[in-house]
Order: sequence, then C-alpha cells, then structure tokens
Amino acid sequence: MAKSSEAYEIWWNKADEKEKKEAFAFCDGYMSFLNSCKTEREAASYAISHLEKNKFKDIDKAIGKGKAAALKPGDKVYRSLWGKAVLAAVIGKQPPVGGVNAIAAHIDSPRIDFKQNPFYEDTHMALAKTHYYGGIKKYQWVCMPLSLHGAVFLKNGQKVEINVGDKEGDPCFVITDLLPHVAQKQMEKKIADAITGEGLNILVGAMPGEKPKDDEDKEEASVKANLLRILKELYGIEEKDFVSAEIEAVPALPVRDLGFDRSLIGGYGHDDKVCAYPALRALTDVKGIPEKTIVVFLADKEEVGSQGNTGAQSTALSNFLAELCAGTAEDYNDLTARRCFAASHMLSADVSSAVDPNYKDAQDPLNANYIGKGVVLEKYTGSRGKSGGSDANPEFIAALREVFDEGGIAWQTGEIGKVDLGGGGTVALYMANLGMQVVDCGVPVLSMHSPYEVVGKGDVYNTYKAYRAYYQNFR
Ligand code: MN
Ligand code: MN
Repeated sequence: MAKSSEAYEIWWNKADEKEKKEAFAFCDGYMSFLNSCKTEREAASYAISHLEKNKFKDIDKAIGKGKAAALKPGDKVYRSLWGKAVLAAVIGKQPPVGGVNAIAAHIDSPRIDFKQNPFYEDTHMALAKTHYYGGIKKYQWVCMPLSLHGAVFLKNGQKVEINVGDKEGDPCFVITDLLPHVAQKQMEKKIADAITGEGLNILVGAMPGEKPKDDEDKEEASVKANLLRILKELYGIEEKDFVSAEIEAVPALPVRDLGFDRSLIGGYGHDDKVCAYPALRALTDVKGIPEKTIVVFLADKEEVGSQGNTGAQSTALSNFLAELCAGTAEDYNDLTARRCFAASHMLSADVSSAVDPNYKDAQDPLNANYIGKGVVLEKYTGSRGKSGGSDANPEFIAALREVFDEGGIAWQTGEIGKVDLGGGGTVALYMANLGMQVVDCGVPVLSMHSPYEVVGKGDVYNTYKAYRAYYQNFR
C-alpha cells in the first residue's frame, strides 16, 4: 500500500518504550485541558494563561496609538478575540514578510445553546428553550446529563460567568425523552425526525416558591419564579439579562481513558480541541528562535461555518499577520502584508473521520483514516465533487512528507468518507483565500460531533509531534 504508516506502526515501529510513556503523559495533559475546557471561552482563557506562563505578551498592549509594536526575532505575542478565539506567534529569525508557518484549529464544538428568552414553565416544571449549534444528531443529546457554561453580560458591563454541572456536588440538567411504552409513533419516524429542534428543551427545575397567601401571589410562587429567585441569589442575574448572554449546554461527562489498555480517550469536544491543544503546545514547546515566524490561530465558529468576528472567515488572521509585518518591516506598506500571506504555509488542524468497525461501509478502505495510524494529512475535504473544500497543492504535501518522515512521525492520508455519502469542511478554504498554501492535518475521530467522541492516544501524540516538526523544520 502507498500509505506511509502501516497497521500497529505507532506502537511497533515508531515508538520505543520511552516514547510510549511520553505519548501517554502528553495525553494526560490533553485530558486535563479537555476536562476544564468544554467551550470556546474556556479554551481561549486556558490558551491565554498558558501563553502568558510562557512569556507571550498581549500585542495590543505593546502598541502605541497609530504605531506598530516593535518586534524582533524571538519575541512572543498573542491577541485575544473577544475571549473566544486566540492568535499567537513567535517571531522567527527571518522576518514574517517572507512567509510564516501557521496552524489553525478551532475551539468551538457542537452543543446546545440557550435561546435569549429561555425560561418557561410547563406541567409544573421549569424548562429552558434552546437552539442547537453545529451539526448534531439530535437523538444523541436526549437523556444525557448536561452542564451549563457561558457568560451573562449585564447592562453595566459586568460579566457573570456560569459554569455548573461538571464539578462534584453540582446539579446537572437533561433533555427528557418519551418512554418506549408509548413511543410506537415516535419509533416509526426517521431518526432525523424523531427528535425536533424545538423539542430540545432542557429541564432545569420542578419546585415552586412558598405557598401563596392568596390567589394574587400565585405567579410569584410558580416553579419558574422560584427558578429566577435562585438565579438571582446565585449569580445576581435576572430573566432579562439572558438577552445578552451566551449559555451553552454540553455533556456533563468527564474525559476518561478508554479500553483495557487505556490506549484511547473518550470525551466531549475532541473536535477540535484535540488539534487545538497539540497546536498550542507545539507553539510553546519549540526550542530556541525558530527560523520562520510561527503562528497559531485558535478560531471560534467553525462548527457553524466560520462566520462572525471570531471565526476564520474574519480578518482576524490577516490583521494579526499585518501587525507582525508592521512590527518587523523597515518600510511597511499594504504590499508587505500581502507578500507575507502569499508566502505563508498553514496546517488546517482539524479532525477527520476514523473508520468505525461498526460502519465500515462509510469509507473507501484505500483512502480512509484509521485509529492507530497517526496524524491525518487530508488533501481535500468538501462534499459531492469536492465542493466546499480547499484542494491542497501537491508541492506543499510533498514538502510536508519530507518533514514528517524525517521527524519519525506516523502519518496517514484519507478522506472523510465515500464520495457520494456526504462530506464536510474545515477552515482551510478561508485561509487559502489569503493566498497561502494550506492543507488539512489532524487527528482521526470516532463518533464525531456526538456527546462522547473517541480518539487514539498514539494519533494525538503523533499530531503534536507533526505540528512541532512543522514549526521547527518546515522551510
Ligand atoms: Mn472540526
Ligand atoms: Mn466539526
């Protein structure tokens, strides 16, 4: 077979006992990150504190009015985008105008968001209306313990953080489902129709307030009123404050070792934090001053199409690169940044599908990705006739093969699935619009977009090694 990595290669050929230990230790770090970072806000603030620990400085604090930050080789800078996405860079020996080595991953994951008027009472219970985010199979999200994460912004500018349902002793929340005894009609429906979007209402309480003295107090004593009283008590917030809030319901499940041999990780949000964490670590673990300027973009909104000012379609990356150019170039003009974009390289660090032994029909076995064969290099994504994908130039892939093989990295190549079955996309095409060379490169995942996705530890570690080698050695 033309594939670079054969079966078992991660464990038999590419890793000695020392490296196996390193792989497991690296994954311990990843698992603790994933446990504490279920949302883009949490992942962004983790990234910022990790960067600051590693002496990265907020680029916007270094800039005077109308000036550029003066940057020299070895300088480390970052920029936060509304606390939901992060850009960071280490200035290389060569100025960024000659091109940077960048990696873009996303830190948002499919989930269930509160609507802006969430709360209502029905059947003596309090519920929250929701609008799901990203491509979910809705039936997977009912009867699943949920936690709530997010932020409420008050009129005075104050931010109130919500994080309830994951810590020991916390209550959790759930979307109920119909008992099988009376579900005959529901069971005859197609899976896609059995659970509706408007039916994803989260149960959040069932106790009324104190018994009213007369009929007029009845509303004050309802389950909903009692819920609002508790929210006021716990967080100092009112019903109207949810208009300016982002509350995300995510699975209240811990990230865990999976399998007797503990070679896998089960958890929520691998897509795409399993590429974001290795990318961030690769950036901060690079030794000495890199030859080229290295950049990471941890983007938001990928799961809904990368729109918005925290998504990869925004000018966030180009503005940041322009900032790096302005900080290092003698005479900066508009062309300086454009030359930097066109000379740059980018790994679109996103997950791909792994062949599922229960659903082997979904892939062409010759062009599929497998758990245990290492990091995935995916020339193109998209659906039908490669629609909506960015088809990487083979020259770039060839140069990466050299870097990966030199670095002893287990890698594989494959597509997300069979040609006419569906498809998917990543941020690659938006980065490629700037003129840079882009290819998809990330971890293969089982049960993608479900509340409990699965990845292999060897694949995660080889992804980290691949990103590090690219930052260090790609010219
Ligand atoms: Mn993804
Ligand atoms: Mn996804």
